[in-house]
Amino acid sequence: MLESIINKTSFIKEDIVAMLSAQGDDQKALFAKAKEIKEQEIGKKVYYRGLVEFSNICEKNCLYCGIRKDNENVERFNLSDDAIIEAAKFAHKSNYGSFVMQSGEIMSPAFTNRIENLLLTIKKETNDELGITISLGEQTEETYQRWFNAGAHRYLLRIESSSSDLYYKIHPEDKKHDFESRLACLKSLQKIGYQTGTGVMIGLPYQTLDDLANDILFMRNFDIDMVGMGPYIEHPDTPLGKHNEELMPLIERFNLALRMIATLRIVMRDINIAAATALQAIDPIGREKAVKVGANIIMPNITPGMYRNNYKLYNNKPCVDEEPQDCITCLDIRIKLADASIGYGEWGDSKHFARRRVTSIK
Ligand code: SAH
Ligand code: SF4
Repeated sequence: MLESIINKTSFIKEDIVAMLSAQGDDQKALFAKAKEIKEQEIGKKVYYRGLVEFSNICEKNCLYCGIRKDNENVERFNLSDDAIIEAAKFAHKSNYGSFVMQSGEIMSPAFTNRIENLLLTIKKETNDELGITISLGEQTEETYQRWFNAGAHRYLLRIESSSSDLYYKIHPEDKKHDFESRLACLKSLQKIGYQTGTGVMIGLPYQTLDDLANDILFMRNFDIDMVGMGPYIEHPDTPLGKHNEELMPLIERFNLALRMIATLRIVMRDINIAAATALQAIDPIGREKAVKVGANIIMPNITPGMYRNNYKLYNNKPCVDEEPQDCITCLDIRIKLADASIGYGEWGDSKHFARRRVTSIK
């Protein structure tokens, strides 16, 4: 029975595999326990992070991603600084509390300077009231430090898979896609003092439940503060997207993603867990379902409408035809239906981060 496992306070790999395999009544019990722990540890609030995907220009070639460098079917775009600052002001004015900037990966002095200036301007224009998360891939420690000094305080860098074997099956094996470098980047971010976020894709070809259980152990052992993880969704213009025969059906990937979120909540009780947009690409109320089983962060897309269509990391990306204003009303209703309330105007920092800092000072 799963009951004896979900009520434990420390977990071994076999426990995690059992939780990830739960079906029927066991799955219901798993979801209920995750919800209970979330409410007990961090409450019923969901925090918004207004997300701007400001450029799809990328120097990398991850085998799964629709905006990889070698995909010639993508029209590349790069929002102006003014448009990004406007979006940040929109997030501030809408009381979102926090703002996320994400893009393809570029490593260059010009890019570093641009982001640094944007961060400084956004902080100033929003009276230091807007929390800022960035997700701009692998960079040098010096760059991470400069962006931290300029006002970013959270960083999202998914490890994609904590198994180096699997990592190399979904990335080209070259210097630009090196597992150890990605790990070193996560360590730099943590050392600098960012609230450090990572995550994995769920339902990848070649991936086993054992791999996913190891991913959860990796997050725990790394003492990660925040996680964003969601189902892998194939993109037809990518090398990995052409190997469909090995994939589990979308609905199973979706349910497995929910069990990953619930299991992670049970194992790491006080971290921030985002309901990934990819969930919504499979089920229209996928993110709300994630909130019901342990997630507490939602990242509404506030990229100006005309550019959304070109930031397609995967198929069926939801809401690409909406404008930011449409999303607010729609989301508010949805969150209330998910038995949660919205932490308007709050940063909604990771409680785990605060506790980790206190412990490390002692
Ligand atoms: N370039 C940065 C940020 C943008 S990509 C980076 O790679 O870190 C953001 C995330 O999108 C990636 O971490 C990956 O996990 C996810 N992603 C990319 N392609 C995907 C796909 N086909 N299905 C699901 N998620 C995908
Ligand atoms: Fe570029 Fe990120 Fe996509 Fe990899 S996952 S190709 S780094 S945007």
